[in-house]
Amino acid sequence: MKLFEAALSHCHKAAELIELNDDYLAILSEPQNEIIVNFPVRMDDGKLKVFTGYRIQHNNILGPYKGGLRFHPAVDLDEVKALAAWMTFKSALVGIPFGGAKGGVTIDPDEYSSEEIRRIVRRFTHALSNNIGPDHDIPAPDVGTNSQTMDWIMDTYSNTSASSDRQAVKGIVTGKSVECGGSKSREAATGQGVLYNLRHWCGQHGIALDTLSIGVQGMGNVGGHFARLAYNEGCKIIVAGDHHATIKNPNGLPIPDLLAWINTHGSVEGFPNADVVSSEALFTTTMDVFVPAALENQITLERAKKMDCRLVIEAANGPTTPEADRYLTDKNVEIIPDILANSGGVIVSYFEWLQNKSAHYWSNDDIQIKLRDLLWDAYDEVLLFRHRLQCTNREAAYAAALERLREVYDRRGIFP
Ligand code: NAD
Repeated sequence: MKLFEAALSHCHKAAELIELNDDYLAILSEPQNEIIVNFPVRMDDGKLKVFTGYRIQHNNILGPYKGGLRFHPAVDLDEVKALAAWMTFKSALVGIPFGGAKGGVTIDPDEYSSEEIRRIVRRFTHALSNNIGPDHDIPAPDVGTNSQTMDWIMDTYSNTSASSDRQAVKGIVTGKSVECGGSKSREAATGQGVLYNLRHWCGQHGIALDTLSIGVQGMGNVGGHFARLAYNEGCKIIVAGDHHATIKNPNGLPIPDLLAWINTHGSVEGFPNADVVSSEALFTTTMDVFVPAALENQITLERAKKMDCRLVIEAANGPTTPEADRYLTDKNVEIIPDILANSGGVIVSYFEWLQNKSAHYWSNDDIQIKLRDLLWDAYDEVLLFRHRLQCTNREAAYAAALERLREVYDRRGIFP
């Protein structure tokens, strides 16, 4: 099954449960705009290379298109369409005034120098031109991009805007560095949001957070920050992996040392205080909670059959295939679905956008309280829908999102 088809399969199931009007479902089953740009960039050796970039704008009934930019060799139209659709449902679920979009460039960023990446980012931004804008479509970091990427996009966009608008366009991207107008707490927000979800789940089940053993796939922005915060709460991260290696320590990995190691060496590979294991150990190790924080389609049916955990929190987008989802549900493994679990990122992106608009910057404490409240409200909404519809967390999350979209379509109508 293609990724976009898989993304829609959850939406269609939830649409059935709430008897969503077929017209709305038809609209949500295709992205509104699909933008593909091919743009040339001069490499360090003087040769010219043409890159392909995407920006998919799925839906903007609730507000400006919003979603990350991915730099990865597997980026293609199907993947970006799925990621864009998930953004629509995520923003709708957590009740923020954004639509859904996603973009990317098909490259392996590790193969290019920092100067080459800077030129790729600037030329891609220029190629997207008026297809993005602070009140139209607002990119953010995703796999392979970070605050430095966002600073370059903001700078390029600002320098190609009218001089009178240059300060007003800071909100063209979120996830910028704090120095360039980013929000405090944005970088860690997605991992922090995953932890707030875990804490809520523990409260719901009467489980102490510091008794949990956890496995984390992907030790980048999301997985790394989640692991750090969970470790600080007393959780044991017993297995962790990235695209180079997987390591295990049944007594718990020393996460601060591991993150310092990753910072210097770029990977968990070679970390001294752990056993090197196969990447399949992420799926075969007995643990309380598994946190996929890498890419989509990681929990396949075959892997699901070997998993021994109570809870999967989907920090990554689309990490579980529909077949694996059904299998785990039948096995009573609870899943906190991606559109809820990793929504901390877009929530604090929304805060950054608000701060840019008002030029008034909030404290870490303000952001944490507002983030936690929005997330826990969304979590409770999912529980309400689950109870009402007698369905899974994922179906309930989609149903809650669709309900919000339906209310707005009902009131606005479909133009003309
Ligand atoms: P990142 O580039 O910072 O980190 C990705 C990590 O995944 C790296 O450690 C990489 O080595 C690892 N990885 C890649 N392929 C792997 C594989 N096959 N097996 C094991 N590990 C692998 O990216 P990120 O920003 O942390 O994003 C991770 C996931 O979270 C993605 O699905 C992304 O869409 C999602 N997400 C990110 C944000 C955000 O704010 N950055 C927000 C919401 C959702």
